[in-house]
Amino acid sequence: MYQCKDIADEVNNYIDGDLPLTKRIGLFYHLLICSCCRNYLQQIRSTISVITVAHPKEKDETDTQQLAKQLHEMCEKHDH
Ligand SMILES: [Zn+2]
Repeated sequence: MYQCKDIADEVNNYIDGDLPLTKRIGLFYHLLICSCCRNYLQQIRSTISVITVAHPKEKDETDTQQLAKQLHEMCEKHDH
């Protein structure tokens, strides 16, 4: 049976879907009986969605790649 401290350890894997089914069921049952951990999970989930909304990363990653490419080209020119 899961305890509250186990939930804290596993909750990220639970959200990511990284847990085997037996562990997911164990967590799920603990969440059913423990409102404390339900609130905890909800908080984590809302934090994650805030992060995702606040930092839509696709554009940034493209810029970073572009910058890396430019730097790489500059280095190559410098070598010659
Ligand atoms: Zn709990």
